[in-house]
Amino acid sequence: MLDVLKFKKPETTEKGKGQIDVEGVSITFGKGPDAHRAVDTTDLTIKAGEFVCILGPSGCGKSTLLNAIAGYVNPTEGAVIVDGTEVTKPGPDRGMVFQQYSLLPWKTVYENVAFGPKMARQTRIESGSVANTFLELVGLKKFGNRYPAELSGGMQQRVGIARALANYPSVLLMDEPFGALDAQTRLMMQESLLDIWRKFETTVVFVTHDVDEAVFLADRVLIMSAAPGKIIEDVTINLPRPRSTDMASTDEYVKSRQFCLDIIKAESRKAFESQNT
Ligand code: ADP
Ligand code: MG
Repeated sequence: MLDVLKFKKPETTEKGKGQIDVEGVSITFGKGPDAHRAVDTTDLTIKAGEFVCILGPSGCGKSTLLNAIAGYVNPTEGAVIVDGTEVTKPGPDRGMVFQQYSLLPWKTVYENVAFGPKMARQTRIESGSVANTFLELVGLKKFGNRYPAELSGGMQQRVGIARALANYPSVLLMDEPFGALDAQTRLMMQESLLDIWRKFETTVVFVTHDVDEAVFLADRVLIMSAAPGKIIEDVTINLPRPRSTDMASTDEYVKSRQFCLDIIKAESRKAFESQNT
C-alpha cells in the first residue's frame, strides 16, 4: 500500500536530532482545593531516532505529558528540553498527530498537507512539492483533491501523519492516533507507521493504552502509573526490526506483553478504586 521504498528522505532533515529530556516535570491543573496533579515528578530521556510508547490507564496523564513535550502545556515544575533547548511553546521541530483527525475540513487533502510548509513561508511551488512528497509517502497522492470528509478514518489519519511530517519535525508526537480505527485498519496503520519511521528516522513518542500496540511498535515502552501519573517502568522490547504482525506469537513478544499487561492491570485497578472512594 505504501510506496515508502521510493521515498527519498529530504536533505534538509538534520541527522541525530530529536533528543528529548524531561527533567523533574510535574504538571498541576487548577489552584487551591481544585488543584489536580496530572503528572508527578517525571524524568526521562528519549534518544534521537528512538520509537518510544507511553502506556498507561485512561486518565493517568499520558496526553498531558505528551502535550508538555509538544509545548501546548507548560510544566508547573521542571522542564522539557528538546535538542538542548527548553520547550515553551509548540514548534515545527515537533509534529503532533491526534486521535481525532484534526484536519481542516474546508481545505482539500493537498491543502491540508501544504498548509504547514506554507506557514513556514515556503513558496507555493515548494510547499506543493513537499505536500506531494508526503502524500506519496502515505500512499494518498491520488486523493489530493478530495476533502477530509470524503476519506475513511484510516485515510484521514494518514493525511494527519503526512501533515505532521511536512514540517520535517525531528520529533513526531502521536496521541492514540489509531484509537478510533477498526482493528484491521489499525494493524495496517501500525505497520505503515513503522515503515515511515524507518525511512524518516525521526524520534517517535506514541501514546496508547493498548498493550499490544505498544509492544508491537516500540523500542521501549514507558509505563505510567495511575493518577497522578509518573513513569514506573521502562521496558525494552527486544523484537527484531523490521517488525511484522506474525511476531505476536514469539516468546519475546508474549513475555513483554504479559509483563506490561500485569503492570497495567494493577494500575487500572488502582485508578478504578481511587475513583470510587
Ligand atoms: P490520559 O491521556 O492518560 O487519559 P490526560 O493527560 O488527558 O490523561 O489527563 C490526566 C488528568 O488531567 C485527568 O484527570 C484530566 O481530567 C486532567 N486534565 C487534563 N487536561 C486538563 C486541563 N486542561 N484542565 C484540567 N484538568 C485537565
Ligand atoms: Mg489521552
